[in-house]
Amino acid sequence: MRLAVLASGSGGNAAVLEVGDTCVLVDCGISYRQIGSRMKALGMAPEQIQGVLLTHEHDDHIRGLEVFLRHHRVPVLATVGTVEAMPCPPVDAQPLASGREVRLGSLKVLPVETSHDAREPVGFVVEDRGRRVGMVTDTGVLTELLVERLSGCHALLLECNHDRDLLRYGPYPWPLKQRIASHTGHLSNEQTSRALERLAHSTLELVVGMHLSQTNNRPDLVERELNAILAGSSVRLEISSQHFPVAVNAGPEQLSLFPEQAERRPGAVRER
Ligand SMILES: [Zn+2]
Ligand SMILES: [Zn+2]
Repeated sequence: MRLAVLASGSGGNAAVLEVGDTCVLVDCGISYRQIGSRMKALGMAPEQIQGVLLTHEHDDHIRGLEVFLRHHRVPVLATVGTVEAMPCPPVDAQPLASGREVRLGSLKVLPVETSHDAREPVGFVVEDRGRRVGMVTDTGVLTELLVERLSGCHALLLECNHDRDLLRYGPYPWPLKQRIASHTGHLSNEQTSRALERLAHSTLELVVGMHLSQTNNRPDLVERELNAILAGSSVRLEISSQHFPVAVNAGPEQLSLFPEQAERRPGAVRER
């Protein structure tokens, strides 16, 4: 299994899952041009994509979808609520539901309900020949259901949206701060590290910090918080980026990451 996080954060989200000759896009929140250039940087091409999985309808997860579908007429898999809430629902949508596993070639995909202010948001646990990867962003809390579903994964891609103090004392207007910190907002570094205390078991090999706020978080703060839990274990921690792709080899061999080097640029964007 190969997993590439093309972009992660409130400026746009997209990831590619590849198992054998099955290749799907998870969210499509960056431009078609960016998807093309970032896949190319990893030796991949948009022509390989056979379907698009959506987590929810927020703009940073679907912004590039319409143009992508104009170039590649592939099915879109999303919950009924997500499709209904989209400004331009895709014609060829196939329904997903939390707890109902779907098969895409040899890949098993289990959608899991998240706690976010979208119509029917989900995260995913994907499995190929016993190798399981959990992907959860855009959730205000890691519910008992999410923790249960993420248990036993080999790799966890988990939201680390904000540092609580940076959010609290930062420049965002008060209502937006409240929304982000709410049960239907986004996960803080501290919330994710607390969940990792329960999830860092013998099968876990890799954790990737996802959906970092560019205003209310920094990679070094994520590393400090999560390494406090992971230190002393063999679990590797990596941080995804808004600005460059990160590829995860989640095959039967040791999991590894090969980040493309690119400049980290600050930019003020709303958390979606
Ligand atoms: Zn988002
Ligand atoms: Zn969202």
